[in-house]
Amino acid sequence: MPSWENNVRKVVPYTPGEQPRIRDIIKLNTNENPYPPSPAVQAALAQTDSELLRKYPDPAASLLVDAIAKQYGVSSDRVFVGVGSDDVLAMSFLTFFASGRPILFPDITYSFYDVWADLFRIPYETRALDENFRITSRDYFAENGGIIFPNPNAPTGVLKPLGEVEEIVSRNRDVVVIVDEAYIDFEDGEDGAIPADSALNLIDRYENLLVVQTFSKSRSLAGMRIGYAIGSKKLIRYLNDAKYSFNSYTMNQTAIAAGVAAVEDQAYFARCLGRIKATRRWTEDALRELGFSFQDSQSNFLFVTHERVPARELFAALREAKIIVRYFDKPRIDNYLRITIGTDEEMEKLIAFLKDYLGQ
Ligand code: PMP
Repeated sequence: MPSWENNVRKVVPYTPGEQPRIRDIIKLNTNENPYPPSPAVQAALAQTDSELLRKYPDPAASLLVDAIAKQYGVSSDRVFVGVGSDDVLAMSFLTFFASGRPILFPDITYSFYDVWADLFRIPYETRALDENFRITSRDYFAENGGIIFPNPNAPTGVLKPLGEVEEIVSRNRDVVVIVDEAYIDFEDGEDGAIPADSALNLIDRYENLLVVQTFSKSRSLAGMRIGYAIGSKKLIRYLNDAKYSFNSYTMNQTAIAAGVAAVEDQAYFARCLGRIKATRRWTEDALRELGFSFQDSQSNFLFVTHERVPARELFAALREAKIIVRYFDKPRIDNYLRITIGTDEEMEKLIAFLKDYLGQ
């Protein structure tokens, strides 16, 4: 190896789900929303003229920050926005996990966490989910340098009740606890309201709690890249300090305009969520009848295993039939498929194929 290479920051990157270029596929592999964004988003995009593009965007993305703050009933100085929640999470790792002590997250979880930890040289330890894929709260009561977990967890879809989330936060007041709520809007309950188990319900009581959410799933804007964090003023100020030391213009004008339009169309948001939850219930029943089992999912995907046929085989057969789902060749979960909830029609096609393939 030439000597300069010894001094390169080497990382093993995260592997995103595939975005195949072929058109006539059923794409159930990256938890996108099957419905288009609110029509108000298209209208806002049509209005972004070249004058807006000529100038730098507002570095504070104030219009978007204000719209999110209004929607969630908090002041704007408690909202941070970024280029997808990946950007918000990466910035949070950089900002809050600087103690040198190991941070904690589950062994089966969003596989970007260990990548960011490695990138930023943050020591970490994982804690095993129990046999039903639940996060065991007491695993997080020991001394640590910070905590992060998704709720619902990915790729399992399992939701941790708010009381248990609070227990983890309240027993860890000396570190920052991040709850990654990429999928929380899909929790059963009133469509579009703040979900009962969202940690947003706790932010007024814990200065060390940061809740991260995204427009990618429930607001159908994965391609636009908008994520946000809500927390105490102090946490948000520290995040902004780090952001402005890294890249002031993370949010482009188009994303700001699209994001504002999306967050303001609450009725459309609620309607889409209602449809996806209904499709999830239908799909769960149909899969159960075919011999699949899974934990209750409160997300827009199901994490399923079949009583007889290995997941790896099903993954390949589905692919052959142009139905793309996600398979993780990892310990403990290599007999599971993660299937995104698509439209009714897409799920009917999935079930029809599986019925046929399984000979039922
Ligand atoms: N958190 C979790 C748990 C996820 O599954 C994802 C989607 N890959 C993200 C965060 C990031 O989503 P985005 O950057 O599109 O907001």
